[in-house]
Amino acid sequence: MSPRAEIGVIGGSGFYSFLDEVTEVTVDTPYGPPSDALFLGEVAGRTVAFLPRHGRTHRLPPNRINYRANLWALRGLGVRQVLGPCATGGLRPDRGPGTLVIPDQLVDRTKNRVQTFYDGETRADGVVPNVAHVSFADPYCPSGRAVALAAARGREWEPVDGGTMCVIEGPRFSARAESRWHAAQGWDVVGMTGHPEAVLARELELCYTSLALVTDLDAGAETGEGVSHAEVLKVFAQNIDRLRGVVLDTVAALPTERDCLCVNALQGWDTGIELP
Ligand SMILES: [Zn+2]
Repeated sequence: MSPRAEIGVIGGSGFYSFLDEVTEVTVDTPYGPPSDALFLGEVAGRTVAFLPRHGRTHRLPPNRINYRANLWALRGLGVRQVLGPCATGGLRPDRGPGTLVIPDQLVDRTKNRVQTFYDGETRADGVVPNVAHVSFADPYCPSGRAVALAAARGREWEPVDGGTMCVIEGPRFSARAESRWHAAQGWDVVGMTGHPEAVLARELELCYTSLALVTDLDAGAETGEGVSHAEVLKVFAQNIDRLRGVVLDTVAALPTERDCLCVNALQGWDTGIELP
């Protein structure tokens, strides 16, 4: 029997491995190969597939990640719930380095990314998907968010419950004026990978929960030199153990039967695609 997993974890910058004992599985999809092999293991009796979002050697910038292949590959292994830990910049002084935000909203400021499976374009395997419009009013899974919040509190890391993640195209960081503008909108954190990951998960009827670790104050919220990648990685390294702990506890506590709206995201649509 081919290896299966029920929960997927897509690790971002600084988060290149998750489990100690893993089976490495290479998969292909109708959208091309995912960012890397998938690493399958077990946490508290739950089967998990870990995928390093940028590849294990961080060779893929946010704008070149094959988000469709990543989500499709996870679903193909049996995954139905996905956790997306990621590094973000804080847009407010009270969202400083080391803050954990479990966002409940998202603003797409990316420019050039494929953000749907249902684009009417013939796939590599000859299948032609129909057009479909999924609801995205609440981009994140309410069940997954609740479990992640409880997991963080269980490790005495008070998370920010809700907030808006602004997703920029990258790979560059924001100019000060852009950052001040994002902050002025009332948004909380800024990242480069949260979109289209969240919407593509929804389009495959997967639950998706973002765990946004703030690694720096974004250019408009601080007064120093601006954001550097070295700073991001340094703060990430300082927090990786507890973030990994929160993700492990979240995996263990995710519901075994889903009763959230994510399950029926495609209800009423003839997508022309059979989901794996
Ligand atoms: Zn859900």
